[in-house]
Amino acid sequence: MNISVEKIIIYGAVGFFLFIVFYIYIRKLKRESRVVGDKIKIAKEEGLHEPVSLHPVVDVNSCIKSGACILACPELDILGIINGKATVINASRCIGHGACFHACPTEAISLHIGTEKRGVDLPHLNQYFESNIKGIFIAGEMGGMGLIKNAVEQGRQAVDNLVKGIDKNKNTEYDLIIVGGGPAGISASLQAKKHGLKAITFEQDSLGGTVFTFPRAKIVMTSAMDLPLVGKIKLYETSKKELLDLWLTVLEKNKIEIYENKKVEKIISKKGEFEVVIKNGATYSTQKVLLAIGRRGSPSKLGIKGEDLQKVAYRLLEPELIKNSKIVVVGGGDSAIESTLLLMDENEVTLSYRKESFSRLKPKNNVKIKEAISKQKINIVLNSNVISIEEKTVHIKIEESNQNLILDNDLVYIFAGGKLPTQFLKNSGIMITRKFGEALLKHHK
Ligand SMILES: Cc1cc2nc3c(=O)[nH]c(=O)nc-3n(C[C@H](O)[C@H](O)[C@H](O)COP(=O)(O)OP(=O)(O)OC[C@H]3O[C@@H](n4cnc5c(N)ncnc54)[C@H](O)[C@@H]3O)c2cc1C
Repeated sequence: MNISVEKIIIYGAVGFFLFIVFYIYIRKLKRESRVVGDKIKIAKEEGLHEPVSLHPVVDVNSCIKSGACILACPELDILGIINGKATVINASRCIGHGACFHACPTEAISLHIGTEKRGVDLPHLNQYFESNIKGIFIAGEMGGMGLIKNAVEQGRQAVDNLVKGIDKNKNTEYDLIIVGGGPAGISASLQAKKHGLKAITFEQDSLGGTVFTFPRAKIVMTSAMDLPLVGKIKLYETSKKELLDLWLTVLEKNKIEIYENKKVEKIISKKGEFEVVIKNGATYSTQKVLLAIGRRGSPSKLGIKGEDLQKVAYRLLEPELIKNSKIVVVGGGDSAIESTLLLMDENEVTLSYRKESFSRLKPKNNVKIKEAISKQKINIVLNSNVISIEEKTVHIKIEESNQNLILDNDLVYIFAGGKLPTQFLKNSGIMITRKFGEALLKHHK
């Protein structure tokens, strides 16, 4: 063979160049995998790695590490690539919009509910959204599928189904009572109006449901949807304000009122009809009930004097707008601690907790609250119980000394846990099954 020295040098240089490129690429992959590995470690420590509801599951044999799923998901660090394959990082932060599912070029992603370790309770529903209790229907996220568009769609379909069983000769006060004023409840209320039903909607909190609790600046991802009495709405990336304004306008235009701050406590079946009991004791009879109650549950109350004052809240919305206020935060879990940390710089915050120390906090919260206490950024009252709330004060009993503390006060935030929505369903006789990792959205290959 007759290879010239020049050729040897050229082949050698090309080979060396390819080797360097390959080496840099492998190092980059390793570095990226290490970063994702570290994120998974933190997610595990903070209890965010294990999914709580809908979440992506990656078929590693089909994944070609295109990264399309990561680019498509606007919620950061739900997915990452480790050793060349996509994997979940903060699975519990997944809100189930399925952007990753649609973006994957090799259909390697499916959306599951629950895992082998942690089951998710779902009610038994037939294809008409009717539960095992004839006449009680369920729509929206409570049924398993998250997302605004799905909730709107299901609310509409559930009413289309239940309307077939309405007997106009019956003399119940209502044809239909809708429980919940989120996307599913709003859509159902509009569709009920379209069908001319005598319907009423009760919301324990604020119109908009979970959407009402979104931060102002959040980009809300959705897709084109059919809103009853409006038609096709082509929204893709929108805001909380735009959505709430849209719903308010259409409800107002059609003279539909959603009754806020009305919690439905009980549903009593009476020979194929129902009595719906509201928190203040009022009872209404109806032929059908549609539960559009979502999955957030109901916050537990303290049951003390003054808890119904306007200044008392069970969640913290827009902390950046709260300034120069005297605030009492009640509770010792992550929600209470995170709210305290968000409020303490611009306000005077007292944290009241009934136990003598915090337990089971996320490590990051534990460190930050200890630091805040040592720097005297908050006033902390352990072993204490809030016993009454007045217009301008809060009365706290310190258990050990049996003393009462009276604090000047503008706002109270109570984080005393909550009741799961499934408990409400069980009390109404609705059958529930625990799902351990069932695929709700998958490609049929
Ligand atoms: C942080 C976060 C971000 C999200 N981002 C998006 C997004 O970008 N795009 C998207 O499509 N989806 C998103 N979602 C999901 C979306 O918000 C939900 O899937 C959707 O709101 C479900 O609608 P729903 O009507 O079924 O339930 P909800 O919106 O939860 O409404 C249920 C309502 O029922 C009320 N209720 C419950 N019990 C009672 C009772 N006993 N009496 C009276 N009222 C009761 C509740 O107070 C609540 O207002 C997000 C969710 C979260 C948590």
